[in-house]
Amino acid sequence: MDCIFCKIVRGEIPSKKVYEDELVYAFYDINPVAPQHILIVPKKHIVGVQQLEQEDECLVGHMFYVARRIAEQLGLAPDENLNKGYRLVFNVGKDAGQSVFHLHLHLIGGRSMGWPPG
Ligand code: 5GP
Repeated sequence: MDCIFCKIVRGEIPSKKVYEDELVYAFYDINPVAPQHILIVPKKHIVGVQQLEQEDECLVGHMFYVARRIAEQLGLAPDENLNKGYRLVFNVGKDAGQSVFHLHLHLIGGRSMGWPPG
């Protein structure tokens, strides 16, 4: 399949791995928008959130859990006063900024961020 993230998952395109298990692969974004910018992708090819099936519910929950664990390891987790923190983003479709059509969860942190996003 001619999908850049499938090729990264298979190791055909190099990436800086952060985490891997039987369901997901996480790696540093090549064009980071913050000091920490990681992508969590399912090993299964899914085009995006709009193409999710009911059978993918657990997989998406796992993606969030992996993101939480990575954020903790990177020291991004909010403290007891909810200081620090990070952002988790799914871009869904071109208007939202989706440019790679293989489902991915952005984990972005290491700086304070504004809202709303551009
Ligand atoms: P999207 O715009 O689809 O929400 O996010 C796609 C992300 O994938 C972008 O942040 C982009 O920088 C990243 N990306 C695109 N191609 C590559 C690549 O070959 N390697 C890595 N590590 N990241 C990539």
